[in-house]
Amino acid sequence: MNTLYRSTRETASHTMTSSQAVLQGLTPDGGLFVPVTLPIADFDFEQLANMSYQEVAYEVLKLFFTDYTAEELHACIDAAYGDQFDDPAIAPVTKHGNQYYLELFHGPTIAFKDLALQILPHLMTTAVKKNHLESEIVILAATSGDTGKAAMAGFADVDQTKIIVFYPKDGVSAIQKQQMITQTGDNTNVVAINGNFDEAQTTVKQLLNDPQLRQRLADHQYQFSSANSINIGRLFPQVAYYVYTYAQLIHQGHIKNGDAVNFSVPTGNFGDILAGYYAKQLGTPIHKLVCASNRNNVLTDFFNTGTYDKNREFYLTSSPSMDILVSSNLERLIFYLTGEDSLATAQLMQDLQTKGSYTITPEMRANLADFWAGFVTENQDQDEIHHLNHAHHYTIDPHTAVASAVAKQYRNATKDQRPMVVVSTASPYKFPQAVLTAITGESTTVDGLTAVDQLHDLIQTPIPPTVTALRTAPVRHNRVAAVDKMGATIESILNLN
Ligand SMILES: *Cc1c(COP(=O)(O)O)cnc(C)c1O
Repeated sequence: MNTLYRSTRETASHTMTSSQAVLQGLTPDGGLFVPVTLPIADFDFEQLANMSYQEVAYEVLKLFFTDYTAEELHACIDAAYGDQFDDPAIAPVTKHGNQYYLELFHGPTIAFKDLALQILPHLMTTAVKKNHLESEIVILAATSGDTGKAAMAGFADVDQTKIIVFYPKDGVSAIQKQQMITQTGDNTNVVAINGNFDEAQTTVKQLLNDPQLRQRLADHQYQFSSANSINIGRLFPQVAYYVYTYAQLIHQGHIKNGDAVNFSVPTGNFGDILAGYYAKQLGTPIHKLVCASNRNNVLTDFFNTGTYDKNREFYLTSSPSMDILVSSNLERLIFYLTGEDSLATAQLMQDLQTKGSYTITPEMRANLADFWAGFVTENQDQDEIHHLNHAHHYTIDPHTAVASAVAKQYRNATKDQRPMVVVSTASPYKFPQAVLTAITGESTTVDGLTAVDQLHDLIQTPIPPTVTALRTAPVRHNRVAAVDKMGATIESILNLN
């Protein structure tokens, strides 16, 4: 079956192939790409149980990326999920206490975004060739720390691509800054901005849509693209680890084929958990998807009241990748809740834009039964890290702790005894100060790499090679620019003058 893509905000008269949608990112009307009809999967989990991560990924990706040949998809998958991961299982499933932990942090930047950003560049460059484009792709990204680094790690030295990442000079952690300025790859460019993340982000969006700049790029055989989490080339590869986890639970003898399980997902932009929703639609026996938030609990309120309201205070927490007020991928869920009604979806998104809030109908709320939502405070988050470390000798990061704690809230509230899989999105070594504080009960002021050593002394698990490498990696990037010089900086990097 051929899977074509349409916008969430327009009737299905305009469609695109998957490779075109990967290149476009966003639809021309500002909506998000969704399949015109959901692919029909015929998963044989007994068979999948004996497959590698790469083999399962192929079974999933071939449903969504139907204009790629089998050879092309295999090449993308092999390039993405190889020995840049420090565990051959790619996404190992472990058990601690009465919960399972799906570890998605064994890639080059030790956070789950690697599962999507290692494959996106290959899906993109393959799409360029398939669509007979001559130009080279230029990825622009603004980052508050994690995404830009993961995107660079994915695009580094990928043929026919360049990547330019802007980060706020004083707005990222010491480790994140070190990761950024030591980035390897002849096609990677890093620019520190004398400004904050919002300014960097807003300017990148303007530049991506600047017709004059786009034309100047085209004259030099370049075209912009973006690597943000709404691209289907990031979203659908994430479906694979839900399917893989279910198959692995059978393989490890924890469940029988057909038994339903739950997933608890630490949520920010709603990409990860939405991939779980697609896995369920494809027939993976998932009972509930638990949407776990930190103090920025706009999604908890949405699931429990039917009103999404971003007019609220914004908090900085120890799980920064979930500090978000507008979850952009939620638009795709809204589209399904309306019964794939693009007019109704566009209206709600319009309300969000103009009023900062919207309320869904009772009929739409009735379709939310696949989800359960909860949030934790900073103290509860620390307690969860502390508890797992002391009771089970397992150490989790502050994002994973949100999902782990909310999973327990779910069990207490519902008495549901089905197996619960906590999606573990970052290594504890990525947030060593917060984890040290949680375990010891004392706040720490040491720098990032010292905290890594202290954490290692305490928990004794291997320090990821990418963290060790930071100690000696040479600095490769020292560009600094004012916000209003970001466009000129791009022209200079690309030699457009
Ligand atoms: C991005 C991120 C999340 C949130 O994932 P979404 O897909 O944006 O919901 C959670 N944890 C970590 C460590 C992340 O980097």
